[in-house]
Amino acid sequence: MPSLTHYAKRIQKLVTHVGFRYQCPFCSFLASDWMWAGSEIENELGVIGGGKRRTLCPKCYSRDRERLIYLFLTKSLEIQKSASNLRVLHVAPEIQLFKKLKAIGFDKYVYSDYFMPGYSYPAGTVHMDITQIEFPDSSFDLILCNHVLEHIPSVQVALSELIRVLNPGGRAILQVPISSKNPETIEDPTITDPTERLQKYGQWDHVRLFGHLAYPELLRESGFELELVPVSQDFLRFGVNPKELIYLATKPNLSPR
Ligand SMILES: [Zn+2]
Repeated sequence: MPSLTHYAKRIQKLVTHVGFRYQCPFCSFLASDWMWAGSEIENELGVIGGGKRRTLCPKCYSRDRERLIYLFLTKSLEIQKSASNLRVLHVAPEIQLFKKLKAIGFDKYVYSDYFMPGYSYPAGTVHMDITQIEFPDSSFDLILCNHVLEHIPSVQVALSELIRVLNPGGRAILQVPISSKNPETIEDPTITDPTERLQKYGQWDHVRLFGHLAYPELLRESGFELELVPVSQDFLRFGVNPKELIYLATKPNLSPR
């Protein structure tokens, strides 16, 4: 059972950050600012989607990028309106986003993870290796796979699996940390030391840092039609990163014969 000190610290956090500048779309907390999180190394590397920044909601602990995906899905795409026809795969689900999406009532909502020791997962999480997805072709209409591909050595295999299980015309949101400084992806398979990965890629368990030109190219080469959606500006009130673009990847419809 959490101690009194725990509750006191929690209340202090809320009081310190309460205000009218921002609003959390998950828990509705009204914030003057967010709490700090992230690593300074990513700032030095010019990473968009990571880095030390004011990002954490003091009440529900959602981050800027999780809030952006939720706002994009529900306010821009309005997926809730066609939920009963949508089959959704959510890879490595962000907890607040997961709770909201689960409540929407999709035709199917599969949430999956590559179980790692030391982490806990929501009940019902399916074990999944995204380089070998155990679902038939065209099983999903929407895939969310955010901040996963930078962990996967065989990224081309993962992308071919994601497009395989996506229905033609279906869409995937494929966010990764992106280097604003380097157009090319920085990757060296001989680097396996966590400290060296941290220095090179910005996080100890990342296997690359995607370049801002190379990543869209990779998605297009994998067969997706790609749209980079600059939607963050619409949602600044909700504490999103103004520099973050949505990587909206569509599986092309089958060409008519
Ligand atoms: Zn919140």
